[in-house]
Amino acid sequence: MEIKFKRFHLQSDLRSPLKGFETISVPTEVRIDPLTRRRSRIITWGLPTQEKFNFSEMVDESKGCFFCPENVLQKTPQFLKEIIPEGRIRIGRAVGFPNLNPVGSYGSVVVLCHEHFLNLHQFTPEIYEEGFSVALEIIRRTMDFDPDTRYWQISQNFLLPGGSTILHPHLQVIGDPIPTNEMDRLLDSSSSYYQRNGTLYWRDLIQIEKGLGKRYIAQFGNVHWFVPFAPIGFNEVCGSVEGHGSITTLAKEEIASLAQGIVSTLKYYDEKNLNSFNFSVTSISGEAHYQLLIRIISRTPFQPYYLNDWTSFEALQSELTANIIPEELCHEIRPFFP
Ligand SMILES: [Zn+2]
Repeated sequence: MEIKFKRFHLQSDLRSPLKGFETISVPTEVRIDPLTRRRSRIITWGLPTQEKFNFSEMVDESKGCFFCPENVLQKTPQFLKEIIPEGRIRIGRAVGFPNLNPVGSYGSVVVLCHEHFLNLHQFTPEIYEEGFSVALEIIRRTMDFDPDTRYWQISQNFLLPGGSTILHPHLQVIGDPIPTNEMDRLLDSSSSYYQRNGTLYWRDLIQIEKGLGKRYIAQFGNVHWFVPFAPIGFNEVCGSVEGHGSITTLAKEEIASLAQGIVSTLKYYDEKNLNSFNFSVTSISGEAHYQLLIRIISRTPFQPYYLNDWTSFEALQSELTANIIPEELCHEIRPFFP
């Protein structure tokens, strides 16, 4: 196995006004992702902690939206009859329909619940089980209609810092005949890893991380949850589903294990007074060397005068930053995974 955890220690020396102008050293760590070789920068000083934001005014002003139960079946688009004759997919409280403002070939929205707003600790495994079941059905039926659509993202953007204008919890389901940059990077590097080693990168990684025990969080069924060595966002947690590349082949138990890991992560975020997040499940059919991956990151919490976490480093230098040492995050989050 050629998995290497390579890191560089950088250090900045300065005379601090907080310590009577004594010289202090502030370390930064640059880590190289063992698969993609992408660099991540881990900053070791903490951002100021915030109190929990009270969303009640925002919720009152915006409730009765297009996704609320009284409107969702009247005011949202319907699928083409050739793809989904009944127009929308409904499972439990979740409702799936085409996105009025798509960004690719097939863009759908899955409204997750009747509630217009949920705090992070109020998301339940059942909410995601129903939401993912709707997403899966949309993907299956779309692929029956157009089998070239192999590349799918099932994502959630929560609150304004996460890029969502609508408060009501929902998923984005996006399918295309071509991969995104990230999919391309994952496929390319997993496939060259296989050529060189004759083994699946994801299986090797899980085995190593389990052995090391510093970043491996928990196993739910055949979903492995871990903190990545080189995170690409704040408080990043990953899950990988053994034996699957696409969400379309997942059984009910595997969907439940994914849902459980998301909810556990959100409970931890809530405990840290975070409120905004993104996740993305990357689902690709017909690729033997890829294994289904979900990445969850927190965004800077919504609050008055909130701080964006996407600076010139991320936007213009493609150098992603994280604000907690991955091994510390793993230690802190473990108790939230029952
Ligand atoms: Zn609503």
